[in-house]
Amino acid sequence: MKGLSRKVTNEKTQCKKFFNYLAAMRVLSDSYRHKGLRKQLVEQIRSKGITDERVLQAIGDIPRHYFIDSAFDQIAYEDRAFPIAEGQTISQPYTVAYQSQLLEVKPHEKVLEVGTGSGYQACVLALMGAQVFSIERQKQLYEFNRQFPYLRNFPAIRHFFGDGYQGLPTFAPFDKIIVTAAAPAIPGKLVEQLKPGGKMVIPVGESRVQQMFRISKDAAGDIHEEVFDDFSFVPMLQGKNN
Ligand code: SAH
Repeated sequence: MKGLSRKVTNEKTQCKKFFNYLAAMRVLSDSYRHKGLRKQLVEQIRSKGITDERVLQAIGDIPRHYFIDSAFDQIAYEDRAFPIAEGQTISQPYTVAYQSQLLEVKPHEKVLEVGTGSGYQACVLALMGAQVFSIERQKQLYEFNRQFPYLRNFPAIRHFFGDGYQGLPTFAPFDKIIVTAAAPAIPGKLVEQLKPGGKMVIPVGESRVQQMFRISKDAAGDIHEEVFDDFSFVPMLQGKNN
């Protein structure tokens, strides 16, 4: 009986692996059609008010369809979020651009990202010249990103499996911190891990809609808050999910 139950468990594991593989089917070729749609997306985001040319250039360079299930290939360049594994989402390109612009990333800065998700936002930051430290609490997403061939083009991105509420004390302090999930309040440990002169961009709120905050730490270590537009993110959850 023991042998049988082990066999069933093994088969279940094999099935799960197969379904994960299917769920991760991606189109990994960048056609003229994709490139054309990407140009249109950049112009659309520009017309919505994004002015940082480095952000627009990064969005124009990264094949967003690589980060999305092939089922969405035809619509990958619409300015909207899409589901990824584990009930999470790849953010809307306008939202990625908005947060990246507010972060005012300069080349060689150390940037902590909370919520790797698809890895798309991390690539935008890396193309802007940042050294990216990205944390994800979902083991499956973390593992997938470690094997995702396109991300091997980005040695400036380091992946961590962990709880973003804790930040990364070993690598702190950071010039910039970007949180890509909705926090009920500003996490104190993240503020602690900001350098003097550093900035954190984070959506804050407990309802379906959150406000984008930018927290700045001045040279004396005092904190200043600015509030920007409303957005809708998946929640920032406590702990890790194996
Ligand atoms: N930046 C991502 C957006 C992903 S959605 C992208 O470009 O695709 C937000 C992600 O935050 C999800 O993958 C979710 O699992 C993750 N997340 C939520 N709470 C977290 C936490 N406490 N620590 C780390 N990641 C978290």
